[in-house]
Amino acid sequence: MRNFLLSLLLFALLAGAVWYGAGKLEGPEVAIASPKAVMGHASPLDVTVNAPPDRLDRLEIAVEQRDQSYPLFSLSNRGGATVTLEGNGTRVRGTVGRRNVPALTQAPARLVVRASLTVLFGLRAVDTVTTQDVEVRLVPPQIAVTSLHHFINLGGSEVILYRVKPADAVSGVRVGDIEYPSYPASGAGIPNADPSLRVAFFAVLYDQATDTPISVFARDAAGNEGQAAFDHRVFPKRFRSSRIQLQEGFMERVVPAILQNTPDFQVPNPNDVLDAFVTINRDLRRQNAEEIAALAQKTAPKILWQGPFKQMVNTAVESGFADHRTYFYQGKEVDQQVHLGFDLASLPHSPVLAANRGQVALARYLGIYGNCIVLDHGMGVQSLYGHLDTLDVKEGQMVDRDQQIGTTDVTGLAAGDHLHFTMLLHGHPVTPIDWWSSQWIEDRIVRKFREAGAKLPPT
Ligand SMILES: [Zn+2]
Repeated sequence: MRNFLLSLLLFALLAGAVWYGAGKLEGPEVAIASPKAVMGHASPLDVTVNAPPDRLDRLEIAVEQRDQSYPLFSLSNRGGATVTLEGNGTRVRGTVGRRNVPALTQAPARLVVRASLTVLFGLRAVDTVTTQDVEVRLVPPQIAVTSLHHFINLGGSEVILYRVKPADAVSGVRVGDIEYPSYPASGAGIPNADPSLRVAFFAVLYDQATDTPISVFARDAAGNEGQAAFDHRVFPKRFRSSRIQLQEGFMERVVPAILQNTPDFQVPNPNDVLDAFVTINRDLRRQNAEEIAALAQKTAPKILWQGPFKQMVNTAVESGFADHRTYFYQGKEVDQQVHLGFDLASLPHSPVLAANRGQVALARYLGIYGNCIVLDHGMGVQSLYGHLDTLDVKEGQMVDRDQQIGTTDVTGLAAGDHLHFTMLLHGHPVTPIDWWSSQWIEDRIVRKFREAGAKLPPT
């Protein structure tokens, strides 16, 4: 009997210790990935708890503001959020903001996550409370366009100046579904420009309609977006069509050289020279366009160029911007492409000079462009030089206008010795005719900077 009582006492003590110890266990870890500092009308909610859903006794998410608590999510009432098992954790994704909590006002608030985990064979639970302070922002950023008269040639470029508040909003110009980023006006040589003044270069691409919607947008960190229309006119342009007769000798020269210099690119049937040519002309052309577009990420946030861009001298224009080309072989149509640059022919191995001041963003073999150089002129403006022989510059190097960067040749998809020249705006080919024109540079770009008080860039 005494032994029995002692055992009972020991068991009770042990059970008590385990019970007490289990209560001392850490609750589940909670990570609030979003919202971070701010939330708006419908900001992303992204919360992960490091326990699988079946071990969670409770998971509740609420928003607190001015001593009021507004429930947002619980395991039994998910409020439209989705719950997924991520590794060994439970992830809740949905939205949080004024849309789910209409009582929220533009003031500080707090996201509160309460999670409890069952321990001791489900007999006890341990709790965690994790909070994130957030600022509720409900008013979209304010935009005021300051530059006047925006005229754009189809396939061409333009610049706009505007003010945005708050100054940390992400803003730019949207043309159809393409967004062009903006940069602080100080990068355009406007002295003492406050951070709210922004500069954005944008384009209406050759294949966009002249009535494509164009507006300035600005998004804050809470996801509020403001838009502003501005006065603009797009002038239609007609682009030429041309027919190219493919010769076997040409294809037998260019196809093996391109494949040899582009080991990552495979053609299904390298022995069929026409099939290999068409695959290069279509698929490698597209792949090269993507590689070129990615160079826009490297652009400087300030204007590096000065005055009009220079067209290569003493050249015959063999092909213009956005010429629509139809390719024929032995009388049959085999492909169609758009030529997004100028072909300028002079004497073989003529020097190629930088069209303007800039930094070398690319200097290497690039598929259909052969030996190729791309110069970055800042704020998304770049120029490309293709089919070169020698590459006289290295990536990262600064070059001056008229500095020799290479010589012409027939590398890549070139039938004869010439320079392929393209102007790019945030990775999109635009007509260089604008950039070659001193009048266009003065009227469309420099005038707007001068009206904003800029002393630079000098013409
Ligand atoms: Zn070309």
